[in-house]
Amino acid sequence: MIWDLSQLVENTDPTSIQKKLKSMVIEAEKIRDKYYCEIGGLDAKGLLELLRIKDFHTLQFEGVVKYCRLMYSADSTNDVAKQLNDAARRASMRVGQALAFIDIELGKLLTEKPSLITDSVLTEYKHYLERILRRVPHLLSETEERLIIMKDKNGINAWQMLQSDWLSTRTFNIEIEGEMKTLPYGEIIGFYQSPDRDLRKRANQIVYQNLGKDEIIWTSAIRSICEDHLQICEIRNYPTPMTQSLIANDINQQTIDSLMKTIKKNVGLYQRYLRLKAKLMGLVKLANYDLVAPLPNAPEIDYAWGESRKEVVGAYMAFDEEIGGWVDEMFERRHIDGEVRKGKRSGAFCSSWLAGKSAYILQSFNRRISDVYTQAHELGHAIHAYLGSRAQKPSNLEIGSCIAETGSIFGELLLTEGLLFKAKLKGEKQAILTNILDEFGMATFQVSARVFFEQSMYDTIERGEFLDGKTVAKLWVAARNKIYGDSVNWLDVMRWEWTMKPHYYRANYRFYNYPYVFAQLFVFALYKLYKEQGKSFVPKLKKLLATGSSKSPHELAAELGFDITNERFWEKGIKQAEEFINMFEENL
Ligand SMILES: [Zn+2]
Repeated sequence: MIWDLSQLVENTDPTSIQKKLKSMVIEAEKIRDKYYCEIGGLDAKGLLELLRIKDFHTLQFEGVVKYCRLMYSADSTNDVAKQLNDAARRASMRVGQALAFIDIELGKLLTEKPSLITDSVLTEYKHYLERILRRVPHLLSETEERLIIMKDKNGINAWQMLQSDWLSTRTFNIEIEGEMKTLPYGEIIGFYQSPDRDLRKRANQIVYQNLGKDEIIWTSAIRSICEDHLQICEIRNYPTPMTQSLIANDINQQTIDSLMKTIKKNVGLYQRYLRLKAKLMGLVKLANYDLVAPLPNAPEIDYAWGESRKEVVGAYMAFDEEIGGWVDEMFERRHIDGEVRKGKRSGAFCSSWLAGKSAYILQSFNRRISDVYTQAHELGHAIHAYLGSRAQKPSNLEIGSCIAETGSIFGELLLTEGLLFKAKLKGEKQAILTNILDEFGMATFQVSARVFFEQSMYDTIERGEFLDGKTVAKLWVAARNKIYGDSVNWLDVMRWEWTMKPHYYRANYRFYNYPYVFAQLFVFALYKLYKEQGKSFVPKLKKLLATGSSKSPHELAAELGFDITNERFWEKGIKQAEEFINMFEENL
């Protein structure tokens, strides 16, 4: 259950690690010395050589940086890990600074000679170059870019920090089993998923009542960040507040319009699931604090590490033997850290190791079904890395968030299939289906409310109205109700729900939300296709994952015969959800 990071480096001695980090910076500076102010004069062959050198540099030093970072996330109390992680961060920053000129000069070169993009010599980098060119019209002069960085430091970044620091220093008084406790935000929210309904209700009530008291702080932050973004859109020539994120996600407006239209059309399906869940919980209607609650009579199945491995490997193996073999290899080569221990980073992640054509996974395995799902999810990311690193250069593995979750969510569905096949009791099936449908509902529909909400804030500012706390709360409730209708009872204080979402406050990260909706529905549609086509679908999914970012999401779907700008494609994902909901109803 403990990973072996030594495979990432030739020598784990800290002095040798530090030496390798130094040479990483020196090698980057050599690239700069050779190419600075020279890119404008490159022909196709010269450009190819530069891109290959840059990719080679990434692969050459990826292991050592990963070693330091992963060691630290596995134990942040370890002094050696702290030092190495800090050294790796500094070295990476210096490499970033040294090589920052490449994209700028490349942008200029491609603007002057766009024919380079279609030059046959550069075929493997075609889409990488297209993406750089798409950003060029929105870049400013070097002086202006530097001024923006300076402005952000004490502007939007400071507002973001204020929101985060303020939230993490709030404490809440709550009575638990007859005892009054004072808990920080991170702890009290743990009770949202308590089996005790009254405790769930009180935890929600107390948190949001208190957050609402500081409405002036939350609103000042969110308003400043939104207004700043609108001004930057004007300066950078972005036609809409969403454009910046569309470019980052390699997607177009029409696709997102179709996606959101499909969501609006199908809110009734989600509401149907919520009513069924209420019935199962013995309630007339769900309250907001029941949305992610565990089922009252769900069987508590305990999963040992070995059993989890068997389930997950089996699920992937049933899909494809090569993929199943790689999943098993992740366990066999000890690339997964599952032990629960102090000093370890919370949550779970998968970190691709391109040079090793593999990946590393961190999770805290608590033997619950949700941990088995987390494992299946992260291993799906690992499979994406296995396939991608075998087919692509690092420049073609900068996968945007719409596609990045394809392997992982697909893996969860494969696990669901395996578990459902084995489940004998109704209660077991309900628990499995609730797991998958709760997540689908949250990522697809609840997150859509956040898309509507974010858009409505920009619309309000552009109409010349002022965003005060009351207005923002009203916008949130309106967006939320578009999704939930009258299927859920909300505590009145839930109008302050937006205050705690760090994403709304993140600088230069607007509309973080729709990629989640995209990813869920995209994978549900792919899964539906798998159910229709059977084994002949397997190589198609493998090809999609192996393509990395060398093609746009639009092209990836087109290769499967779909047009993601058309609502018909998204309806396919909805159809798959409907099938799960029907199954859920049959097992009530
Ligand atoms: Zn993920």
